[in-house]
Amino acid sequence: MRLSFIGTSHGVPEPFRRCSCTMIEAQGQYYFIDMGTQAIEDVIRRGIDVNDVKGIFITHPHSDHCDGLVSYVGLINWYFTKADPTIVVPQISIADGIRGWQKGLGGSLRDTIRFEETKPGVTYDDGVLKVTAYPTQHCPNSFAYLAEADGKKVLFTGDLRHPTVDFPQVVYEEEIDLVIVESAHFSPEHTEKVLENAKVKRVLHNHVYSAWNEELGRMAKHQHHYQYGLSYDGMEVVL
Ligand SMILES: [Zn+2]
Ligand SMILES: [Zn+2]
Repeated sequence: MRLSFIGTSHGVPEPFRRCSCTMIEAQGQYYFIDMGTQAIEDVIRRGIDVNDVKGIFITHPHSDHCDGLVSYVGLINWYFTKADPTIVVPQISIADGIRGWQKGLGGSLRDTIRFEETKPGVTYDDGVLKVTAYPTQHCPNSFAYLAEADGKKVLFTGDLRHPTVDFPQVVYEEEIDLVIVESAHFSPEHTEKVLENAKVKRVLHNHVYSAWNEELGRMAKHQHHYQYGLSYDGMEVVL
């Protein structure tokens, strides 16, 4: 299982960081968790066959996590017409919005473009990747996703209300190889406390707001029972 960090910024892009988007590769198939940036361009630049992208999973309906869907769906609608990813959205109105955008351009979406609404629990399983959704309280219809492939487990927290309120409890129940924790809305030091007793091997702070740099610097000097670090655009992680 390989993770490619396409965009790791907080809600606003920065000169060297784009908005939230992570690509998963497993057994020659590709998946996205969030698409806050024009990921279709990354698929093409990397020489990936667009038909090998099998799933897109949006954590919640904020622009910095899903705006890239508009261009992605636009291109598979008219050009890469054999592409048939399952597009899992936290509320189906996102699909209605993309249909409306196409209509506004004078076109329409082909029937074979498949949107599904996130279901709490196992929301997707194609035999290569299994995705379990955990509701969070960041906003209406927000979810964390546990992605499992090749015997590895990666938890994407999505945006949270606060780690002490809605951190997915699965980190205490199952061994997680990697937790990708959002660090935009609260000091990452709160997450450190929550993860003290978690069965976690590695933590990457993602979606980091620069106001927390001082805390992150302090935390880097702490001892953790897990490997600890920050994500950045272009980072690749193989599990
Ligand atoms: Zn966000
Ligand atoms: Zn958000």
